[in-house]
Amino acid sequence: MTDVLHVINPATEELLEEVPVDDGEAIAQKVSRSRSAQASWRDRPFAERAACVRAFRDLLVEHQDELAATLTAETGKPIRQSLNELKGTPARIDFFIDHVPQVVEPRIMYQDPANALPGTAALEEVLSYDPLGAIANISAWNYPYFVGTNVFVAALLTGNTVLYKPSEFATLTGLAIAALMKEAGVPEDVFTPVIGGGVAGAALLNQPLDGVFFTGSYATGMKIAGAAAQQLTRVQLELGGKDPVYVCEDVDVETVAPAIADGAFYNNGQSCCAVERIYVHSNCYEAVVDKFLATVQALKLGDPTDPKTDLGPLSRRPQIDVLQRQVQDAVDKGATLRCGGHPVDRPGWYFAPTVLTEVTHAMAVMQEESFGPIIGIQRVSSDEEAIALMNDTPYGLTASVYCGDRQRATRILQQVRSGTAYWNCCDRVSPYLPWTGRGHSGYGSTLSIDGIRSFVQPRAWHLRTV
Ligand code: NAD
Repeated sequence: MTDVLHVINPATEELLEEVPVDDGEAIAQKVSRSRSAQASWRDRPFAERAACVRAFRDLLVEHQDELAATLTAETGKPIRQSLNELKGTPARIDFFIDHVPQVVEPRIMYQDPANALPGTAALEEVLSYDPLGAIANISAWNYPYFVGTNVFVAALLTGNTVLYKPSEFATLTGLAIAALMKEAGVPEDVFTPVIGGGVAGAALLNQPLDGVFFTGSYATGMKIAGAAAQQLTRVQLELGGKDPVYVCEDVDVETVAPAIADGAFYNNGQSCCAVERIYVHSNCYEAVVDKFLATVQALKLGDPTDPKTDLGPLSRRPQIDVLQRQVQDAVDKGATLRCGGHPVDRPGWYFAPTVLTEVTHAMAVMQEESFGPIIGIQRVSSDEEAIALMNDTPYGLTASVYCGDRQRATRILQQVRSGTAYWNCCDRVSPYLPWTGRGHSGYGSTLSIDGIRSFVQPRAWHLRTV
């Protein structure tokens, strides 16, 4: 009997759909077909591959309302934010279409004319880039369009075939993406969905692959790296974070506190680059906390299909227990619970937005990724103390400093281990810059020129005339 995935609406706990899961045999066949299809996809002119990807981009725009509704139904993401994600995706695709050719086109690195020395042949040394081959993209549910296209669009444009395993919590979105790829003219074996949860992901990794691109948690990332090592498959890991913000004493509290609250609570805090820890200089601590609390308490929690809703349900029920444990641990160790701290008494997996002050690094809320609507705010008395605390984490995804002086901010940020550094902003991503982590946040890059190079390997040509 075929296994099925039960797709549940986190806002209502109703069953949305039962989707058949791929078993090991089906996955093996998909990988085999993907490998066979790769050479002809690679050999198509770039303009043809780009035309398919552009058609996919246009279909995303055409269907954005229904795609956003599906994303909201299966993840609980507020509809306004689902639409924001869909509206933000085409610009990323355009970046890749515009930049792949200039990154991968062959270039002459060195030349000797014939008879440079009497009787010598002409020599050219050329650098070119080949696609990796058939790659697996094992993806997360929190931003399936952003984190998905960062990988599979760049991979397709550079001539790879893709086995795309959406998260089991964004399966309907994954299937919609696959259907639009097909409609856009991407051959079925060039972009292949693999449906299922961790078991399907693990079965995919047992197959011969030329690259594994993973977005997800540190715990799963460790398993992925271990499995990929068995075949020495190239692997890239985009993992979690415990991203800090430091607020200096010279900021405009009225604008900064709401901006940080948005960074902490957007998508219910379920962003890899969500603000997860806040350090505030003691000279503005009370003012920042007051404005921050006022902002959080004004957030509208409710039905994610309502365009006015700021906070929907959590996408996964087990996260409620994680958050409750973090709150209890913090309170037990002396933190002050300023708001929230409990599930909301209504159907669905809702958790009240939670702010804790007087927190310390002895508390899990300042150490472990929360991935939910909860934040700790800690008072600091100097930049040096802030730097030490910001670095007191195995993660290294983003870090942010709010202050009036760019030199001071960059001096601080240079001393913090992170892939991304923000001055007077947070929780933002640009296609022009690499998205990359350090430590437990993973390795490798997507987006930017570096993120295109992730999907190719260099080839060195030594070309003599005779
Ligand atoms: P997850 O690790 O639970 O799952 C990610 C994917 O891995 C899913 O598709 C899942 O089915 C698959 N999987 C699970 N076990 C597997 C196994 N043993 N072998 C192969 N595949 C397996 O993560 P999630 O809950 O989907 O996403 C949340 C996490 O992702 C957070 O930690 C978040 O910070 C991180 N994230 C990071 C980025 C980034 O760019 N750095 C972006 C988005 C999310």
